[in-house]
Amino acid sequence: SIPLGYFGGIGGAAKRGILVKGSTFLDSLAGVKAIAFDKTGTLTKGVFKVTQTVSRNGFAQAELLKLAAAAELNSNHPIAKSIREAYGKPIDESTISDYTEIAAHGIQAKIENRVVLAGNDRLMHRENIAHDTCNVEGTVVHLAVEGTYAGYIAISDEPKPDAALAIKSLKALGVKNVVMLTGDAKAVAKRVAKTLGVDSYQAELLPEDKVTAIEQLLWEVGQKGKVAFVGDGINDAPVIARADVGIAMGGLGSDAAIETADVVIMTDAPSKVAEAIQVARKTHSIVW
Ligand code: ADP
Ligand code: MG
Repeated sequence: SIPLGYFGGIGGAAKRGILVKGSTFLDSLAGVKAIAFDKTGTLTKGVFKVTQTVSRNGFAQAELLKLAAAAELNSNHPIAKSIREAYGKPIDESTISDYTEIAAHGIQAKIENRVVLAGNDRLMHRENIAHDTCNVEGTVVHLAVEGTYAGYIAISDEPKPDAALAIKSLKALGVKNVVMLTGDAKAVAKRVAKTLGVDSYQAELLPEDKVTAIEQLLWEVGQKGKVAFVGDGINDAPVIARADVGIAMGGLGSDAAIETADVVIMTDAPSKVAEAIQVARKTHSIVW
């Protein structure tokens, strides 16, 4: 039978907007020694604003933005939303065909029968498109049309108001290793990591690289404790599944991640993770 204290723990967590999917996960939460956070949408707002549109090779700026908005029409990535918003006009869905979203790279689609790529450096490398090396603050989305570089859109995101507190609280609870894992560029990751005070970060990761990073942490922590991963779930379901405790942000998060997660933070506030650990430890001390 399940000790009564667990119900108190799960109920107490629920009142704080933390959904724990069973008593095993309360125990695991109590023992967390290392924790990895996804960046975009988890530690940062995931609300990007377009700051710059730079066109190349004879493309007009307006055309660049329109093509990008069309390529991003069906993506629910925070980057996509910002580009659609910057364009601000409706897009005719019937102009888009052969749409593919390539995780941690971007989009490939046909727009008015031209092959359009919208994504990061890695996508441009993969498709052999000569492109600008941008020295801008923030995330860059490059555009290519029929194999020709058309320019880039720079967008920026900012940390959530409680992100630095979230890291500080975890340290105060004795969580030894707080890591940030991201698919975003190194320069962006470095700046956010420094601002928030995480112990270390890894950038330019593919979803499977995040799984490898968690496996490394699991190996390092070993029998000494548990490893948690916190993500907003866009591309994060595999890594959420791999951690001892997979935590999803419920607000922005994708359904797949919420389904896979052991713990769901209903309010999207990363500082709730420390609160969850506190509740779990308290329950632990009552039950044991
Ligand atoms: P994070 O790990 O920070 O949450 P993701 O893994 O979701 O980031 O994405 C990693 C990178 O892949 C983004 O920073 C961006 O460069 C690129 N990318 C992903 N999805 C898209 C998209 N829909 N459009 C353009 N670029 C994208
Ligand atoms: Mg993310």
